[in-house]
Amino acid sequence: MNKNGYFGDFGGFFVPEILVSALKELDREYRSLSTDMEFADELSHLLETYAGRPTPLFSAKNLSKECGGAKIYLKREDLLHTGSHKINNALGQALLAKRIGKTRIIAETGAGQHGVATATACALLGLRCEIFMGEVDVERQKSNCYRMNLLGAKLNVVKGGSRTLKDAINEAMRDYAATSDDTHYLIGSVVGPHPYPTMVRDFQSVIGREARSQILSLEGRLPDALVACVGGGSNSIGLFHPFVADASVRMFGVEAGGKGINSGMHSASVVKGTDGVLHGAMTLVLQDEDGQINETHSVAAGLDYPAVGPEHAFFSRSKRVEYRAISDDEAVSAFHHLSESEGIVPALESAHAISFASKLANDMSREQSIIVCLSGRGDKDVNQIAAMEGKL
Ligand SMILES: *Cc1c(COP(=O)(O)O)cnc(C)c1O
Repeated sequence: MNKNGYFGDFGGFFVPEILVSALKELDREYRSLSTDMEFADELSHLLETYAGRPTPLFSAKNLSKECGGAKIYLKREDLLHTGSHKINNALGQALLAKRIGKTRIIAETGAGQHGVATATACALLGLRCEIFMGEVDVERQKSNCYRMNLLGAKLNVVKGGSRTLKDAINEAMRDYAATSDDTHYLIGSVVGPHPYPTMVRDFQSVIGREARSQILSLEGRLPDALVACVGGGSNSIGLFHPFVADASVRMFGVEAGGKGINSGMHSASVVKGTDGVLHGAMTLVLQDEDGQINETHSVAAGLDYPAVGPEHAFFSRSKRVEYRAISDDEAVSAFHHLSESEGIVPALESAHAISFASKLANDMSREQSIIVCLSGRGDKDVNQIAAMEGKL
């Protein structure tokens, strides 16, 4: 990344003038805190004693045996407090906000998972919290709305536009432009204008740092491949980043292929997207010829986003990371398969990564190993799948 927040041709700072000074201040503050040992120690302490780090690296022997081929290891982010990797970033940014004197946090959420992680971090650190959520999403995610309220957050229901995530993002940006003196905008993935893609990546890189030292002590060598699902791209970048310089390690980002990548009903922004600006960054976007954003679809709500973090666009162009799509049906089948073979119910998002890794393992040899980021647990998805299968 260069100093204006570009990764090759991607990234940058495409925001209305009214946001420029707030983002420049955030960039300055983040740069100075990122070398502050006291801040790093405080965050590590919270990650250990509150969130549950380090997470185990589990050798999935049953799954590996069935796939035949490479050994599959699961990085167990599903075991963290609140059920996914999102807490790593929520705690990092909330602590940063507190250190730089902000008293109020805003965030937007689609499925509600990032809203819950943010409300959790704010409850812990004594920060006021307001969550923006589209009216349609509020209807679909009632229990997460209740959880956010329970944690002391105020929910702002967005009634404009399509009343979903992208409208909630617009509303949060508008609020931030007016309130940045006392407010921090806590973005949930490696998306948005500089410095968010870098800052969120740094907070999530704890996943890859731990995985690297764990695999070295278990296998005595680096893994041959890394696999993670890509929505905005934060759990994947977090796993990949500490291995980027290791040329022998192949990396695979797995996107939501939905009902098929030629069906128009998917969220495969890298596999099918084109260069464009969305939410403050130049990146790969699912859009029509006029630059209007396409409707997206995935069985996994956390992957249902029409763009991807700019660093992924860069890794795709430079070919350091390979991107693949896994369909809804393949993900649901992996959701069942991991539950039965290892007694681990994965989040539907993570099930995309499991599905791809199972195929990849089969093409590799027994001496080789793969680390899959199990980004979250599937408890949140059990009712949805049971209803889809007519079992409720
Ligand atoms: C939100 C979410 C994702 C997608 O977000 P990334 O920023 O791409 O990591 C993946 N898995 C789970 C469990 C999630 O909650």
